[in-house]
Amino acid sequence: MTAGPIATHCPYCSLQCGISLASRDDGTIELTGRDDPINRGVLCIKGANAAELLGHPERLGTPLVRDGRGGPLLPASWDEALDRVVAAIRTAQARHGPDAVGCFGGGGLTNEKAYQLGKFARVALRTSNIDYNGRFCMSSAAAAGTRAFGVDRGMPFPFADIPEADVVLLVGSNPADTMPPAMRFFADGRERGALHVVVDPRRTATAELAHRHLQPVPNTDLSLANGMLHIAVREGLVDKSYVAARTTGFDAVRRAVRSDWPDRVERTTGVSVAEMTETVRALATARTAMILTARGVEQHADGTDTTQAWINLALALGLPGRGAGSGWGTVTGQGNGQGGREHGQKADQLPGYRKLANPADRAHVAAVWGVDADELPGPGVSAYELLDRLGTDAGVRVLLVAASNPVVSAPNASHVAERLDALDFLVVTDFFLSETAQRADVVLPTTQWAEEDGTMTNPEGRVLLRRKAVEAPAGVRGDLEILRALADRLGRGEYFPTDPREVYAELGRASSGGTADYAGITHDRLAAGEELFWPCPTPTHPGTPRMFLESFPTADGRARFVPVTPRPAPERPDADFPYLLTTGRSRGHYQSGTQTRRSPSLQHAEPEAYVELHPELAGVIGVVDRARVRLSTPRGSVVLRARLTPGIRRDTVFVPFHWGGASGVNALTSAALDPTSRMPEFKTCPVAVEPADAHPGDERAPTGSSAALPS
Ligand code: SF4
Repeated sequence: MTAGPIATHCPYCSLQCGISLASRDDGTIELTGRDDPINRGVLCIKGANAAELLGHPERLGTPLVRDGRGGPLLPASWDEALDRVVAAIRTAQARHGPDAVGCFGGGGLTNEKAYQLGKFARVALRTSNIDYNGRFCMSSAAAAGTRAFGVDRGMPFPFADIPEADVVLLVGSNPADTMPPAMRFFADGRERGALHVVVDPRRTATAELAHRHLQPVPNTDLSLANGMLHIAVREGLVDKSYVAARTTGFDAVRRAVRSDWPDRVERTTGVSVAEMTETVRALATARTAMILTARGVEQHADGTDTTQAWINLALALGLPGRGAGSGWGTVTGQGNGQGGREHGQKADQLPGYRKLANPADRAHVAAVWGVDADELPGPGVSAYELLDRLGTDAGVRVLLVAASNPVVSAPNASHVAERLDALDFLVVTDFFLSETAQRADVVLPTTQWAEEDGTMTNPEGRVLLRRKAVEAPAGVRGDLEILRALADRLGRGEYFPTDPREVYAELGRASSGGTADYAGITHDRLAAGEELFWPCPTPTHPGTPRMFLESFPTADGRARFVPVTPRPAPERPDADFPYLLTTGRSRGHYQSGTQTRRSPSLQHAEPEAYVELHPELAGVIGVVDRARVRLSTPRGSVVLRARLTPGIRRDTVFVPFHWGGASGVNALTSAALDPTSRMPEFKTCPVAVEPADAHPGDERAPTGSSAALPS
């Protein structure tokens, strides 16, 4: 005998696969894949084992408060915990002003929670200091998409368009490992005869499945895209009528790529002139073609320009807005990576992509919120800048972290941990004691995915209803309830409803008329099975699965070319740090691992972090498969087990970023920021690689570890 099943969605990545949950009489939960338009019943290993999070023995069941400075975290009542938080907020703001308190959100929060957190910062705390961990994921693509198209919707077309593309160029993305159910869209295309080309420094599972794999030096994508555009111009492959009718700025871009001679680009990137030429010809002559980018392109200190370079190529070939099977898109990563960046968690942003710096936008949202527009603070600083200043005179003294684990996920993570420790007071809401929660003064236990209603927005701009399927443990509260309880104590409780439907309805009004307009999408329409993509301005509007068919949402209706040229990398390999470190996700874990590292099945499948390196590099430094290897950058060292693979470049090592502590690769990564998106340079930094056991206790590379590879 079971109760249910309830149709809901996976707690992990942006694909948000459909899941059914049923409660058995013995208290266990039955989880199955659901015949959803995206996953058609198929789940990856993470989603298939997601029920292990429910009823987990390490689940937080009561608030925790720190016993004195440096003492242990001890159970406390909700009143005591919330009173302590509000006392810390009041003290900090009385001493240092409203901006002394900050919020740090997460790209996994539902739309309702992300919206409410942004409102809480501006209305209850009146602080400008709020940003979120999505700044570390999608911000460069968001900035480039907005600059080029006037809107940031990761994929301006549905996944179902992928099989319609005769040629797909997939750059810096590995869905075969990160979102396996999405691979059916690619498989259907290949079965139809489509040509698939993958650009990645690693021969990933996705690259294995493609027809062609271009394997550039990390962080040379911008040169590669410019070189391919140069070839398109030289060979007369530019779609001149499209460029004339639907774009502006092409002449400046044409001039900018004039000196990107293919042989020169080949020397920079390692991709041959023939490979570039064949790929450009295929894209240009196909009936339908698309270019998809992801974090490999975007997580750089020049990520916005690098993304723009691929958009420039797509525009020159006339792809965006051509119709089904053509275009440019970015494949979002975090569970609500798309919706989480639309409704006010970002430092400069109000719901619906409205801007805090725009008086008309402030007036619209303030009217919905029932406050004076002059009350709203101005824009704040980006995620890493906020973290970097914690505990300083110029920074936040009390930080509220919601559903994020920056001790593991932020770049230069050891420094970030030090800054968190410098705070007067740290509050973390989570359902497990993450590495960040372990440093908190107060931990507030929250409900998790299957215990609450809410909406998520997937990379297509499709809004999904995540439904409550099981009861939460008695001692925990939802984030909306927690924000209300804090707001009550701050005298602003009346502005903060706790019913997700009510919050969503308000979000719809706040976003109405904005770029990401949700006004016509309701919980009821979603529950009735309608497939709705924003913008959807009215309750009778069908939504917008495919954008740009007639025009682009820019002032003149045209897409914008922007000339971009490579800048020197923030750090370059040298004698001390001669190789390149790149990071990413693995098949078995998700983000900072707070959830997946607690799943017994996933831990069994992938129990520890590792470093992938080429057998030739292993030979040069003198390690064998499964040996312990020390990686060092100017920011720190980690020791990991080696996995030898010929699929990675000989000058590059790869580490997944799902682990913290001694295995936390973000202790090594660089916090150099993109000037536009403020995205840190996660993807590439120079690194020293040496056997760990031969030199116990060494912090830096000894003689020999910097040996050059044979050319
Ligand atoms: Fe969950 Fe993503 Fe796996 Fe689907 S692909 S089951 S959404 S982790």
